[in-house]
Amino acid sequence: MSRRKQLYEGKAKILYEGPEPGTLIQYFKDDATAFNAQKKATLDGKGVLNNRISEFVMLRLAEIGIPTHFIKRVNMREQLIKRVEIIPLEVICRNIAAGTMAKRLGIEEGEKLPRSIVEFCLKRDDLGDPVIAEEHIHAFGWATPEELDEIIAMTLRINDYLQGMFAGVGIRLVDFKIEFGRLDVDGGHQVILADEISPDSCRLWDMETNKKLDKDRFRRDLGDVTEAYTEVATRLGILKSNPPNLSIVTGDK
Ligand code: 5GP
Repeated sequence: MSRRKQLYEGKAKILYEGPEPGTLIQYFKDDATAFNAQKKATLDGKGVLNNRISEFVMLRLAEIGIPTHFIKRVNMREQLIKRVEIIPLEVICRNIAAGTMAKRLGIEEGEKLPRSIVEFCLKRDDLGDPVIAEEHIHAFGWATPEELDEIIAMTLRINDYLQGMFAGVGIRLVDFKIEFGRLDVDGGHQVILADEISPDSCRLWDMETNKKLDKDRFRRDLGDVTEAYTEVATRLGILKSNPPNLSIVTGDK
């Protein structure tokens, strides 16, 4: 098969030109990075699991009316998506104090927040994705006030739905990061959910034991990273319970 034109390579994904105008192929790599790529590893099967989990989540969100870039999964590692202009923001939604917010504000990790909090970081690897205020977004024109209102409303709706979805399988949604893009429609733009939602971009804790089932296992050297991602996929019903060994799960096309 002739290889498609590669348009972009990120830390965990590659984007290729899609089969039709306005489409892309999103390829999920096994590469894992943390702390602004200072820590790197390859985790066998991670890309396959994230492709499946992100597909599942995007489809569920589409069902509740969230517009997303997801069109269909093409194979074990690739999905067809709508081509968008990415808004240069990492939108973080938090329910429980953890990670950089716990550190920044001196709150103990695990403390329930008084309410869900939406934060913004500027997507700039060279600056370490700094936290920014809505004022910066407006002043520098990274998103219009109308776009930002839509982004916040969609983020809270996504949080609401995903908290329930994960709670249903015994998982606490501690926090997550999402990205949005602008889709060309009839001479204007529609803001839609882009990128991925997976254990790479969420904190997911087992409700009974608080066991981490997300990328913190990699960041904090806790081990069994793909096993934890497999557990998430299994609980969501994406993989059969007692999944076969990962070499079968990851048997790429
Ligand atoms: P924190 O700011 O505490 O490190 O991260 C908050 C949440 O956003 C976590 O669920 C984390 O996984 C996610 N997150 C923050 N920055 C990134 C990023 O650059 N890439 C990915 N995949 N997730 C991120």
